[in-house]
Amino acid sequence: MIDLKSFSGLRVGGSAFDVLEMKNAEEVEKALQIIAKEGLRPYVIGEGTNTFWDDGVHEKLVLLKYTGSGINIYPRGDEIVVEAEAGMIWDELVGRVSEYGWGVEALAGIPGSVGAAPVQNIGAYGAEFVDVCTYISGYDINTGEKKIWRKDDCGFGYRKSIFNTSQIGKYLITRIQLVIARDRQHPLPREAIDAHTPLEVALRIRAVRAAKLPDYKTEFNCGSYFKNPVVEEALADDILSNFPEAPHWPQEGGVKFSAGYLIEQVDLKSAQLNDHVRISPKHALVMTTDGAATCEELLTAEDIVKSAVYKKFGIEISREPNYIKSTN
Ligand SMILES: Cc1cc2nc3c(=O)[nH]c(=O)nc-3n(C[C@H](O)[C@H](O)[C@H](O)COP(=O)(O)OP(=O)(O)OC[C@H]3O[C@@H](n4cnc5c(N)ncnc54)[C@H](O)[C@@H]3O)c2cc1C
Repeated sequence: MIDLKSFSGLRVGGSAFDVLEMKNAEEVEKALQIIAKEGLRPYVIGEGTNTFWDDGVHEKLVLLKYTGSGINIYPRGDEIVVEAEAGMIWDELVGRVSEYGWGVEALAGIPGSVGAAPVQNIGAYGAEFVDVCTYISGYDINTGEKKIWRKDDCGFGYRKSIFNTSQIGKYLITRIQLVIARDRQHPLPREAIDAHTPLEVALRIRAVRAAKLPDYKTEFNCGSYFKNPVVEEALADDILSNFPEAPHWPQEGGVKFSAGYLIEQVDLKSAQLNDHVRISPKHALVMTTDGAATCEELLTAEDIVKSAVYKKFGIEISREPNYIKSTN
């Protein structure tokens, strides 16, 4: 059996049957055959920085981890094409790609693997994975069939794609293709307004993130625990009449509010929510554990925050990290 805590940024989880690592097509095909033959329950994992598990024994659960981490970068007209394998660390990709052109530098410092980047369409400082993605390839875990998705097939939205909604848990992503621009085409993030090159932007963003966010390797966390909620216009008007300074962004389907602001307004930033779980003093959106929290303690802490925000604002905030139950 393996300890699932070590596959969770929050260090929360029980145990599972095993982990299967694969670094190429041959090993993927072999692993998928073993899973089908043994009737195991597969779950694809990257670096675990957006995942936690319940405390139970996940008897038939086997983690599938693609470790191939090659990258190929080549010019095509005015653009640069980047092909990378899913096992590469995302921030290493940002470092390599930012030597060639613009497009991923604002996503510097986001922990995790390349293969997980499309799953929740990672985003930060005004940029998202979808901005540079052209296609993704991988496998259907159940049938072993090879798959290719063009960007438009992926249903990308705010922290979402088909891979974490309609098709959740069905596919192993092994490779992505990005196209970046030689010349800057987007405004620079406010945090790096005086930077001149993509590498400089990436450096600034990493420094800003290091100052603002707790280090997940020592103060265990999965980054933002809560998503920024999008609320109906009528409720938004109501909230803004009472809290005119609340950061908000009108968009299709309603108005997006800053979950961090809402949590600060209910005085929970820095709060110790129970013995092992707290809200980070550095960032109101980040729940941290001391490494000894049970899943139940984490979920109880989550409820404290959700209830307080609902009571004050009438807004239901929701969880961002993936929560995997042993009974799935
Ligand atoms: C300190 C900190 C800051 C963060 N900041 C940000 C931020 O600014 N913006 C942001 O968007 N996120 C942020 N995150 C969240 C996290 O970094 C991203 O979600 C990242 O993409 C997770 O990568 P991972 O490899 O650790 O994914 P995991 O936690 O291992 O997996 C996440 C999901 O992706 C699936 N998955 C993983 N690999 C594959 C694959 N190869 N094929 C198919 N499915 C796969 C898993 O099944 C799971 O559903 C932050 C996290 C931390 C700890």
